[in-house]
Amino acid sequence: MSIESNHTQTAQAAKATGPLVLEGRGLTMRFGGLTAVQGVDIHLATGEVLGIIGPNGAGKSTLLNLLTGIYVPTEGEVLLEGKSLKGVPAYEIAGAGIARTFQTSRLFGSLSVLDNVIIGMHSRTKCGVITALLRPGKSKAEMNRCAERACELLKSVSHDLFERRNVLASSLPQADRRRLEIARALATEPKIVLLDEPSSGMDDRDTDALIADIQRLREQNPKLGFIIIEHDMRLIATLPSRVMVLDYGRKIGDDTFEVVRQLPRVQEAYLGRKASSHHA
Ligand code: ADP
Ligand code: MG
Repeated sequence: MSIESNHTQTAQAAKATGPLVLEGRGLTMRFGGLTAVQGVDIHLATGEVLGIIGPNGAGKSTLLNLLTGIYVPTEGEVLLEGKSLKGVPAYEIAGAGIARTFQTSRLFGSLSVLDNVIIGMHSRTKCGVITALLRPGKSKAEMNRCAERACELLKSVSHDLFERRNVLASSLPQADRRRLEIARALATEPKIVLLDEPSSGMDDRDTDALIADIQRLREQNPKLGFIIIEHDMRLIATLPSRVMVLDYGRKIGDDTFEVVRQLPRVQEAYLGRKASSHHA
C-alpha cells in the first residue's frame, strides 16, 4: 500500500466533520522542571480518526494520559461532548466513553483471552469479576451474557483471536496481544478509543492486518472515534483523516497527512530525508 495512493482518500475524509466529541484546550503538563506538553489544543469529531506523530519524548503518551484523566493537566482542560472533565477521576472518564490501550501491554497474562475482554466490561456494565465476587448467586446468568458479548467483540476485532479465546493471554504472539487490548478497550462501549503505538512490535504483515482490523471496526461502528499514536507511516497515511504533529511538547502541525508530511521535522524524523533536501 503506497503512501501516495491514499492522498485523495485522506483529503476527502478531512472535509467530513461532525459534532465534537472530545476537546482539549491549552493542555500543558509539567513534571517538575520539564514541560512534557505545552499549550496543546486537540479535538476529535464523532467517528473521526486522528493520528498523532512526533519523535520519542515529544509528549504523545503524556497527551493521552491527560485526555484519559490519568494525569491532571498543569494548565488547560479536557471536554467530553462539551462537558469539562475537571476533577473527574480516570475510572469515571473510562466509564463515560474514553477507552485506551497502553504503549506497553497491560493484559492479564494468566487469564484467558476471553476473560481479559470480560474484565474490560466492568466499568460500563454489570459484568465482570466485581459482580461475580459480590453477587455469586446472580452472577452466573450475567457472566454467560458477558461471555457472549465478549465473544462478539473478539469476533469483530479478529476471528482468529476468537478461535483462540480459551488460551492464556500470555501465550499469544505480540500482534494478537495488541488486538486483544483493542477488544478489551471496546468492551467498555466507548465513544473514542485511544491507541498508543498499536503496531509496535509488529512486522509489516501484522501491521497490514491491524490496519484492516481497524478499518473493519470503523465500518461496523461509524460513530466510534479513534486517536492513534503511531510511528508506522503506512498506518498513519491510511487510517487517520487528520494528523497532529508534536515536537518537544508543542503542536507543530494538524492537517491531512499529505500536508503534514511536507513539514521539515516530519521529513527528518519519519521519511528519512534531511530537512534541507526535501525540495531537491
Ligand atoms: P512520547 O510518548 O512522545 O515518546 P512522553 O509523553 O512519554 O513522550 O514523554 C514526554 C516527556 O515527558 C519525556 O521527556 C518524558 O521523559 C517526560 N515524562 C513522561 N512521563 C513522565 C513522568 N511521569 N514523570 C516525569 N517525566 C515524564
Ligand atoms: Mg509514548
